[in-house]
Amino acid sequence: MLVMKFGGTSVEDATAIDRAAKIVAARRERRPVVVVSAMAKVTDQLLAAGEAAGTGDSHKALELSRALRERHYATAGELLGTGLFTSFHAELESEFDALDELLRGIAAVGELTPRTTDLVASFGERISSCMIAPAFAARDLPAVHVDSRACIVTDANHTKAVPLFPEIDLRLAHYVRPLLERGQIPIMGGFIGSTRDGATTTLGRGGSDFTAAIVGASLGAEAIEIWTDVDGMMTTDPRVSKDARRIRSISFDEAAELAYFGAKVLHPATLLPAVQKDIPVLVLNSRNPSCEGTRIIARAPRCRNYFKAIAAKRRITIVDVVATRMLMAHGFLRSIFEVFDRHRCPVDMVSTSEVSVSLTVDSTEAIPEIAADLEKLADVKYEGRKAIVCLVGENIRGTRGIAAKVFGALPDANVRMISQGASEINISFVVEEDDVDEIVRTLHKVFFADPDPAVFA
Ligand code: ASP
Ligand code: MG
Repeated sequence: MLVMKFGGTSVEDATAIDRAAKIVAARRERRPVVVVSAMAKVTDQLLAAGEAAGTGDSHKALELSRALRERHYATAGELLGTGLFTSFHAELESEFDALDELLRGIAAVGELTPRTTDLVASFGERISSCMIAPAFAARDLPAVHVDSRACIVTDANHTKAVPLFPEIDLRLAHYVRPLLERGQIPIMGGFIGSTRDGATTTLGRGGSDFTAAIVGASLGAEAIEIWTDVDGMMTTDPRVSKDARRIRSISFDEAAELAYFGAKVLHPATLLPAVQKDIPVLVLNSRNPSCEGTRIIARAPRCRNYFKAIAAKRRITIVDVVATRMLMAHGFLRSIFEVFDRHRCPVDMVSTSEVSVSLTVDSTEAIPEIAADLEKLADVKYEGRKAIVCLVGENIRGTRGIAAKVFGALPDANVRMISQGASEINISFVVEEDDVDEIVRTLHKVFFADPDPAVFA
């Protein structure tokens, strides 16, 4: 069997849902389970409604909910035609009535807890899956709605709940497997689950990919398809370098390195359940379904190029900490990291010498305060408008002379920090933000002059 997950933009309106139905129909023989996101932007709007209610503004909350109701009614009407819509209308209506009641309740209490946040957010996927099932059925697909909350059992860590696998295996075997055996197509909402006691939970933003991986791993899928609105992962940002190529296949570890660099396509940590079972994950474009996309697999394919991709992250601040008096003392690094920890500020890149440490952080408002705390320990300087350039590829491991090739290609660059080693599959360095586009273009020209056709399109 196969898991097919459609993201928010791939179900954003009736046209998109119609397209999704055709894509599913073409794979019917492979026994798909379909996982859907909420329609595009719906989760954001639900969370905004929840927040408004939490501040006691029931007017705004209900206004947002009304807009959502209208959008879903219009979409369902378009998808189902008047006849079918009439019979299905009551189901949609009761979901939206429940949402309104919940928002009124939150506004009355004037408090939004993580638990009620999950309940509010869950409506996006509850409603999209509940609407898409009859829409697919109206297109001659034997689609059956399955409430994911009956299957995806999680702990009670609301807004980032952790799946409980043995329990999920049992539930999917009970609710989903028999449908597949009867030749039906289960339609499940992504992102949502519930605790053993039946409290609704969510798996964290972007969690529908996670649902797809969980379902695929549990049911032993031959593949997991993530249908989105781009052709796949690229060797670099095509807006920066017009020579960017689509990556045909990439290892899970390589994809994970790239995720931080705004390869927003998906969050590879969520694919772990699939990768652990050696199930390939494909990123595909619902607007261009004949494109082969990108295949993410456990082990990297053989590739004659050194790298799979060159990524950049802008808006970086470098923090330099120099403490001569710490020479040969221990505990210096710990005391520095404690400061960042206290401010809940993630540190991305680090390079150290005996008496100094340079770190990078995403530019945040907290930096002046962090610097003030660090001043108590050492001399501190910080400088914004930097960018990290990152080259990723499993071939870095065990190839000699790669660093020389990279920096040899950039004789004039003002390189502020360098990091290589930790993962063995990436080389990262920090440059001025103003120079980063030119640097990425130059590196891409050098390292993708002759792309391996087996790996790059
Ligand atoms: N709808 C959820 C979100 O926007 C989950 C998802 O789409 O993956 O975060
Ligand atoms: Mg997503």
